[in-house]
Amino acid sequence: MNVHIRVRFAPAPTGLLHIGNARTALFNYIFAKRHGGTFILRIEDTDVERSTEASMDRILEDLQWLGIRWEEGPDRGGPDGPYRQSQRLPLYRDYAEQLFREAKAYKCFCSNKKLEALRKEQISKGEMPRYDGRCRSLSKAEISKLESEGLRPVLRFRVGKGSIVFEDLVHERMHFESEGMGDFIIIRSDGMAAYNFACVIDDHLMHVTHVIRGEDHLSNTPRQILIYQALGWQSPVFAHHPLILGGDRLPLSKRHGATAVSQYREEGFLPEALVNYLVLLGWTPPSGEETLPLERIMEDFSLSAISKSAPIFNRKKLEWLNSHYIRKKTEEQLSELLFPYLEKAGLQIRQVDPKHFTKISGVLKENLVALSQIEEYMGIFFDGKFFFEDEAKTILLDSKNRETLHIILNVLESSAEITPDNCPSFLSQLEEKTGRRGKDLYAPLRAGVTGKMKGPELVKTLPLLGKERMNRRLRMALEIL
Ligand code: GLU
Repeated sequence: MNVHIRVRFAPAPTGLLHIGNARTALFNYIFAKRHGGTFILRIEDTDVERSTEASMDRILEDLQWLGIRWEEGPDRGGPDGPYRQSQRLPLYRDYAEQLFREAKAYKCFCSNKKLEALRKEQISKGEMPRYDGRCRSLSKAEISKLESEGLRPVLRFRVGKGSIVFEDLVHERMHFESEGMGDFIIIRSDGMAAYNFACVIDDHLMHVTHVIRGEDHLSNTPRQILIYQALGWQSPVFAHHPLILGGDRLPLSKRHGATAVSQYREEGFLPEALVNYLVLLGWTPPSGEETLPLERIMEDFSLSAISKSAPIFNRKKLEWLNSHYIRKKTEEQLSELLFPYLEKAGLQIRQVDPKHFTKISGVLKENLVALSQIEEYMGIFFDGKFFFEDEAKTILLDSKNRETLHIILNVLESSAEITPDNCPSFLSQLEEKTGRRGKDLYAPLRAGVTGKMKGPELVKTLPLLGKERMNRRLRMALEIL
């Protein structure tokens, strides 16, 4: 491509960043990086009532956490700023006035009540509800009169008859008829620009070459193209990707579970896993690989390879990818990531020896699907959180198992401190002395020293527990239960 690619992600700061929107941001970002282009972040905050500063900050933070970096945006400026729509109102007004002067837009004074009545009437006649253009030909005098009565008009775009055709990079040729569209609002009665209008002005002034967004915007695109034409501007290239669906084939929403990037982050999903999952949802790399970090995705990504059919969200697959990326961390990296979760689970961080915890992290690597699951395993390693789970109690109360525990305790007392080196021979000694092997030996041993029936491999766990603690817990199992 010869043109310098410029793309943008344009969230409305009205809530948390949805994983579907994060996927849109990723497609844009990856496309820009793949072609040496520029990625712009634009905040669409013209809905004053629902937009908040806090939501904007969270969105920026979540994007950064995902590894997305923008060259231009509200926090860092850029040549085509400002990058918040609420700060660009004079621009929208200038272009709206131009369209008004050229009679491509007109003032409409219809009240909501009138519009609602019109809508009902059209529906009852089996027609598509749309504005019928009744204010199209108000005279100057009529307009002045209505304005002098204190009525505040909206500005509507005059839609002519004809077809709108564009080549979508995902859907190929798209064809719409302007008939039935109705003259749509470009400036609301409070003076704010409507989405379709602000979006076109910004995309043009920000020199956006490719608009990559969700399919939910497909019906906006013909309206936007009409505005480009009316202003004598060239439209960007469009690519509308399918939206993520839940298992019931309805758009992914809270009913399906967590939908916000921050929820996955809090649960302990790694950004690498979420990025890998979201991008490969509906896009298959030529190599067919399933685990592909962002740098690799950037090498192979193409918009036209995005599937036209909607992908179904599969949490199990995301979990699988998360365990994959957790396993790729070093002990040190993992322990750093896990530390905040210890605190959240109520452990006094000051009492945790970082070196010891690094080893624990290494041992838990294979077991963790999400970082917050550290809570389930804390009782194994931290006495303050230790207890016997019910299932473990049942095992420990069995008389044959109690005999085994006594023998284990004897062997332990006469053995040296358990280390990674001598642990395998310690376990063989237990097999020999108890005459039990497999589950018969390991179930009571695990239940006795960890209080649980599941956990990391014993050969790795025991050296971290140490002889003294194992001894104490086994006695507790025998004496208290
Ligand atoms: N603010 C719009 C949204 O969040 C942006 C749509 C677009 O990319 O044009 O859906």
